[in-house]
This record gives sequence, structure tokens and C-alpha cells, in this order.
Amino acid sequence: MAASMAAAARRLRRAFRRSPLWGGLSRRPFSSEPPPASATAVRDAFLSFFRDRHGHRLVPSASVRPRGDPSLLFVNAGMNQFKPIFLGTVDPRSEMAGFRRVANSQKCVRAGGRHNDLEDVGRDLSHHTFFEMLGNWAFGGEYFKEEACRMAWELLTQVYGIPEDRLWVSYFGGDPKAGLDPDLESRDIWLSLGVCASHVLSFGPQENFWEMGNTGPCGPCTEIHYDLAGRGGAPQLVELWNLVFIQHNREADGSLQPLPQRHVDTGMGLERLVAVLQGTRSTYDTDLFSPLLDAIQQGCRVPPYLGRVGAADEGRTDMAYRVVADHIRTLSVCIADGVCPGMSGAPLVLRRILRRAVRFSTEVLRAPPGFLGSLVPVVVETLGDAYPELRKHSAQIVNLVSEDEAAFLASLQRGRHIIDQTLRRLGPSDLFPAEVAWSLSLSGNLGLPLDLVELMLEEKGVRLDSAGLAQLAQEEAQHQSRQAEPAQERGLQLNVHALGELQRRGVPPTDDSPKYNYSLRPSGGYEFGTCEARVLQLYTEDGTAVASVGKGQRCGLLLDKTNFYAEQGGQASDRGYLVRVGQEDVLFPVPRAQVCGGFILHEAVAPEALEVGDQVQLHVDESWRLGCMEKHTATHLLNWALRQILGPGTEQRGSHLNPERLRFDVATQAPLTPEQLRAVEGTVQEAVGQDEAVYMEEVALARTAHVPGLRSLDEVYPDPVRVVSVGVPVAEALDLSSQAALQTSVELCCGTHLLRTGAIGDLVIVGERQLSRGTTRLLAVTGEQAQQAREVGQSLAQEVGAAAERLSRGSQDVVEAQRLSKDMGRLTDAVDTAVMPQWQRRELQATLKVLQRRANTAIRKLEMGQAAQKTQELLRRHSEGPLIVDTVSTESLSGTTPAFTAEAWALAVCSHMGGKAWGSQVVAQGTGTTADLEAALRTARAYALNQL
Ligand code: ATP
Ligand code: MG
Repeated sequence: MAASMAAAARRLRRAFRRSPLWGGLSRRPFSSEPPPASATAVRDAFLSFFRDRHGHRLVPSASVRPRGDPSLLFVNAGMNQFKPIFLGTVDPRSEMAGFRRVANSQKCVRAGGRHNDLEDVGRDLSHHTFFEMLGNWAFGGEYFKEEACRMAWELLTQVYGIPEDRLWVSYFGGDPKAGLDPDLESRDIWLSLGVCASHVLSFGPQENFWEMGNTGPCGPCTEIHYDLAGRGGAPQLVELWNLVFIQHNREADGSLQPLPQRHVDTGMGLERLVAVLQGTRSTYDTDLFSPLLDAIQQGCRVPPYLGRVGAADEGRTDMAYRVVADHIRTLSVCIADGVCPGMSGAPLVLRRILRRAVRFSTEVLRAPPGFLGSLVPVVVETLGDAYPELRKHSAQIVNLVSEDEAAFLASLQRGRHIIDQTLRRLGPSDLFPAEVAWSLSLSGNLGLPLDLVELMLEEKGVRLDSAGLAQLAQEEAQHQSRQAEPAQERGLQLNVHALGELQRRGVPPTDDSPKYNYSLRPSGGYEFGTCEARVLQLYTEDGTAVASVGKGQRCGLLLDKTNFYAEQGGQASDRGYLVRVGQEDVLFPVPRAQVCGGFILHEAVAPEALEVGDQVQLHVDESWRLGCMEKHTATHLLNWALRQILGPGTEQRGSHLNPERLRFDVATQAPLTPEQLRAVEGTVQEAVGQDEAVYMEEVALARTAHVPGLRSLDEVYPDPVRVVSVGVPVAEALDLSSQAALQTSVELCCGTHLLRTGAIGDLVIVGERQLSRGTTRLLAVTGEQAQQAREVGQSLAQEVGAAAERLSRGSQDVVEAQRLSKDMGRLTDAVDTAVMPQWQRRELQATLKVLQRRANTAIRKLEMGQAAQKTQELLRRHSEGPLIVDTVSTESLSGTTPAFTAEAWALAVCSHMGGKAWGSQVVAQGTGTTADLEAALRTARAYALNQL
């Protein structure tokens, strides 16, 4: 019976998701209820319910840009930011490590990767690319199934007043293949809460077993659904809330193991909840969307939104309304969080979303140009209170959206033109050439999605050469895979079981304070302390804990303390070696150290046996470490200088450094000008020249909260946290009245820094490129390398100057002029690739472009003079006779690369005479009739002069 109910419900759910016939709005479902609550009130009620009634701590939504999680394109669930807790890798000194019960409302984007709802958006009435997920969590067994279900039921039925008979629940029915029993505990909890047995259904792993990825924490879930029909007939269910009970770990071999700690992880879509509470059958008929739908109607002067779907939605007007309203929310939220439309990864997804919105708004709703940008203020108005970053970045969002909309519309127009031109060349039964379609497509030049190109061709009644296109796509994919950066080798890791075991045994986190144990000698050099430590645990390469390792074995070492800096905060890991106390002549090389849940794992290849309990002495590679310290302090100065030059709101997006170079990503409206680059370098140099003291101190995180100008990243910081301040002691920098952090570099940072800035020596920005729109990546070098870069820049500038001088002197010799032109080409290549100041590169590139053009013009002039002279000679020599047979020697090769072809020239002249012409680049013939031969010759002359 239960099975057949389950099957019926499954069918209903599927039917509900696929054919979203949510017609017939019944605006007031609960007749005696007060008027529907606003979305803001619903969100607030959720948060205060968990905070006030059940002691949860409220945490802000994470950015939709995943933090250090390459497996995600966008944050797609509330649990993303808590993943380190599930994995056991959370830093024990961070605030997050203390989280037991928390609740929040998380901005989620499901438009790519494992969760992608993009194709559903517009077609149905319940899926969005951006939505808000309300969630509550209990970590480490703080509470589990019973409390979680009870709280959810209490909130929905008592606080929100949803009638119990409209709610259905599902639980995990087990998976015999995986050896998993049904989750009868959840079933019984629901029954004990008074849910009617016919509303409790079980489903298989597909529906009710939640997994984070191919491996990792997972567990059964129980879902709460709402019946939209609700008249005792066949239910129409929409999923409201998913309660996940994380209790297993999916291992690399596919098996499931119990987790050392259990957690509750829940998520409920705010838009769906609001729809239920506002008595509508569609998320679009709520106050989260209606202001947008109204603005669309006014902006496009179209009939009002009617909520139709599928075939009933004639002309797809209502779908267009939904797509545009959904997509502009996603674009606004993503851009506010620093993900801008671009060419790969999440930025590419966003670019597609923008283009989809432009197509629906212009093609279906006939929106005027610039329309999408005009919707941004409406998004800011509806969501800005809950997510203030939208307000903060509203101007930038409008700019980016409007620019991209205009660019796409221009591309569309050019695309149409190119298609028309190509069609003129084609015979009636020809296929449209794949190369042209490809060049119009996203991967090619204009960025028109291929399906759009096909649609445009379909309108013209032409078929595309699909086989050719598939071939091109395959070649592109192969090319990309060859180009792909080699995946960074992942070092040894502590897995969730190893971490759980260490925590169970009460092993304290590794004391890595000795990494800060270094001082400046009076001579100016740095002295690094060594560190003696005890081996607490050894691990084999596959992560198994062992008591000893043998000769030649690659292993992981956990020590009670260390002076190694483990990779974090954008600073590369230290490297070095260790020796066993008493056996100092055998070095164990340590290429890397990584931090995991507060434990630092040293990677080593053991030249001799090593055992738990052994005493070892650690030595870091001092020049490597010093290189990192120079680059890290330089990174802080660069961050500060950028803010001085580009304005106080300038935000860092990320950084990474090793002894060779530093990389710095910064949010920008436009690429930096050469003047700005130069000014930034100058500002850093000044601070370096003053050889200022660098102060570092650990303080309570709370003390850093309201310091104006203090730089912190979107990161989880430990408490207490280290503050690094240049030129001003930390206490003074944190004094709220001092304003010091506005005048010098003050950052939260756990990195190792120089004690004085002078050792940086110099800093040169040697590279700058747009990572995506709105983000600029800078590459910089310091010290000796910076000096060298300046020297290279100087000598290239001199060469360019000399070449300009030679050019301005002029030459009567074609060979000499050609040599000069070639030199320009060579210089251009050198300038493009040299490690030199970026501002200078840009200036020299601009100069060289002008010089190259002038050199080429000079060659052509000389060649024309020569040709005229040779022609005169020929005519003189052959003044008698009907034909000329002779040789013309030329010193120039530019005749083989003419500015225009003989064929084009002949065609221009002959078509003027109503005739035809044919031939090659160098020889052509043609026919035509004219009464005015002089006019034809004038045409020929004018054409040629025009081309030169
Ligand atoms: P569905 O089956 O409806 O796609 P889901 O199983 O993908 O939902 P979960 O991953 O469990 O959903 O997410 C938790 C909650 O978030 C859902 O119960 C739902 O309320 C909401 N939700 C999920 N996807 C979307 C979406 N694309 N738009 C709006 N709300 C969503
Ligand atoms: Mg889904």
C-alpha cells in the first residue's frame, strides 16, 4: 500500500516538475488567516524562530563565489560554507570551529555543475537560477533527527500556520544494494508528530539519500512537500524543505563508512515558502518577483504577466517575463559578489545567462536597448536590505549589465550582416559553412550562442553544415585540453576518518607558532630558529595511520609542533628538511606542509625508518622562506597602493605568492592605465624606500571589526587573529580614532612577513590581464628581479627610441627601409613577451604600432618610386616594336604581399565597365565595355591609391 502510494506520489512529483500546470491561482488558501506575510517577514520569522526559540546562532550568507572550493562553480546550498566542518578540516581557532547550532539565509545559484536548473527556469513556476535557501544546522551531534523534524514541523504549522493536511513528508526507504536500511527512525518521528500515515512516503536513494559529491560526507534525508491542490483529491506536491542527516562518508572505493561526527543540514527555498504563504501557486506571483514583473511590463509596454506556462503561453510572453526576472536577479547577485560575465568557468555561465535574458527581452518582449540595466534598481530594492552588498555595488552592476547588453546587441547585428553576406555566396542547395557559424559562436569571435545562430539560419531557410561544426567543436575541445594548465598535484591529505580519530584521541592542533620565530640581525640578515618536535603520528600515502615508516617510503608526518609555514592565505608552503635527533647526518627532505583541521601534515620521503615517538629537528629552507616573506609584505603594500591610486573602495579578490613572483587579483571597473600602473609602483617604492617597521600582533577578532580601512578578505579568520601593520604599531592602528589604517597598510593576515619593508628592494608590476570583466590580475616581482625588469624595460625603450630615430631620418634604400620594418616587428615581439614594467610595455607597444605603420608606408612609397623609374626605363629601352620582353629585378619582397590583389583591382575596374574579372593575387584579366576608357583608367588609379 505504502509502495503504491509512494509510486503515485513519485509520478505526481515528476508530473509536477515536468508539466508545470500551476494554473488557477487561489490567492487565499487559509481563509481565516491574516493577510499574506511579505517575503521579508517570512525570512525574518525563519531566522528569529531558530535564534530565539531554539538558540541558533545566525550567520550571514556566504558570497555566491565559492571560497576555495574548485569543485563548485557557484555556491548552490546553505551547507557549502560549512563543508570544512563536515570534512573535519575546519581550523580549530576559527569562529566556525565553535559552531554548534546555526541558521541562515544563503544566496544560492544553480546554473552550472552538479546542480543546474537553468533549463527549467522560465518553463516552470518553482525553479530559479538564483534563490535564497533558508537553513538550520546542528553540528557534531548537537541535535539530530528528532529535534530537526520537530523544529521544522513547529515552524511550518505553528509559526507560519500552514494547515497540516497540506503537508507531505518523505523518508529514505533504504538501499539493499548499498546495504542501507530504511530510515524508519525518521518515519516514526513524523508519525509521532501527528503526520497522517498516508502522508508519509518512502523513496529510494535517488530522491532521499543526499551526497555532496562523488566522495565525502552524505546521509539519508527527509523532505517536506506542500500539496498545491489541497482539496482532498490527487495531491500536487512541491518540495519545500529538505532535512539531511549526515552520518556516512562515501569513500574513494565507493563504500560507505560511518562518520566520526553526525550533523543536521537543512535547506528550504524562500521563494517557494513565500508562494505558499502568500497563497499563490507560483514563486513569480510573490512580492519577491511582482515588482520586477511590473517593471518589465512598464519598460517593454507589453500586456501584463498572466502566469501561463507551456502551450497556453502563446508567443512565450509569460516565459520571457519569468526568464528576464529570474536572470536579472542572478546577474545582480553574482556581480555584487565579484563574479562578472566572462569567458570561462562561472563567468562564462553568467555571460550565457545575460545573453539569454537579452534574447528573451528583445526578441519576445521587444524591450528597448538598455532595458536590462534599468531592472537592477528593482532587484536592489527587493533584496538590498537582506544582502547589503547589492546596494553597495549597484552602480557597477548597472554598468556591467548595460555594457554587456549593448555588446551582445551589436554582435547580433554584425552576425546578421555576416550571415546575409555569406548567403549571397551560396548556391540554393548549399549548407551554411561550419567555419562561419563557428566564428559567430561563443567559442569564436562574436559570442553568439550556436543555437541562436541555428535559429537565425532557420529563419532564412538555410541548413547548417552540422557535421563540419561537430568536427570544429571537437578540434576546439582537443585544443583546450592541451592548453589546460596541468592539474596541481595534490599533496598528502588527512581524510575525514584520520581527522575524526585525532579529535577523538584529543590530540591538540599542531603548535605552529615557531614559524614566527625569526629575527633581524644587526647586520640586516634574518635569523631563523630551528624547532625540535616529536612525531605524533605517521601516515602512508593513502592516508592510513601507521606507527612507523620504512626506508624510501613517501609519508605524512604529524608533529606536536613545527616551524614550517603550511600553505594558506595565498602564501606558498615552506620547504626544508628534518633530521632525527641523534642522527643529524640523515636528512629527510620535506617538500611541503599542509594544514588540515588545525593539524599540520608534513610530507616527506623517508631515507631511513622513522617511528612515532621519535624526536626530530626541523629546518626550513631559509632563502625560500625569505623570498615568501618579501613577496608577502610586498603584496600588502601593493594592496594598499592600489587603494591609494584607484580609490578607497578598491577590493582585493585573491592573491598568491611564492619566492618567484606574486599574483594579485583586484576588482576594477576597467583595465589600469599605464599612468595608474606607474603610480601604484611609485607608491610601493616610496614605502619600501622608507624601510618602515612591520608590526605583527595577535588580537581578539572582535577588536578588528570596525576599524576603518582595515583590510580583510572574504575568509574565515581564526580568533585571536594576527594583524600586520606597516609603520604603525598594531595597537595604534586598531585605535578607532587614529584612522591609521586609512593611511598605511593594515591587514588581518597569518602569513610570515619581513620585519622591515626595505628588504623588498623594489617592486615592478610585470603583467596585467583581465581575468574576467571587473577583475584584473596583476603579476609583480620584487628585489633583484624587479631591478632586472626595469633594466630590460630601459634597454627596450632605448632600442625603440633608436629605431624611431632611424625611421625619422628616412632612407632612399628599400632594403634599408625593409630592415627597419623587420626590426620593428622583432622589437614588438620582444616588448610583448619581456619581463618588464607593464606600464612601459603598454607605452612601447603603442609607439611601436605607430612606427610600424610609418615604416610600412615608407617602404611602399620607395617601391612605387622604384616601379615608376623601372617602367620609364623599360619604355625607353623598348620604344620600338609591338611588345616588351624583359626582366624586372626587385629588391623587395613586399610585392608578394600586396596591400590589394590584382584580382580585386581588376574586378573593381571591370565591374565599373559592367564586366567581370578573374585571376590571382598577382595577375588578373577581365572584360567590360565602356565608351569612356579614360574614366575606367581613372577608376583603376583611384582604387589603387585608396588601397595603398
Ligand atoms: P527540486 O527537486 O525541486 O529541484 P532539490 O531536490 O534540487 O529540489 P534541494 O537541493 O534539496 O532541492 O534544496 C533544498 C530546497 O531548496 C528545496 O527543497 C527547494 O525548496 C529549494 N530549491 C532547490 N532548487 C531550487 C531552485 N532552483 N529554485 C528555487 N528553490 C529551489
Ligand atoms: Mg533540484
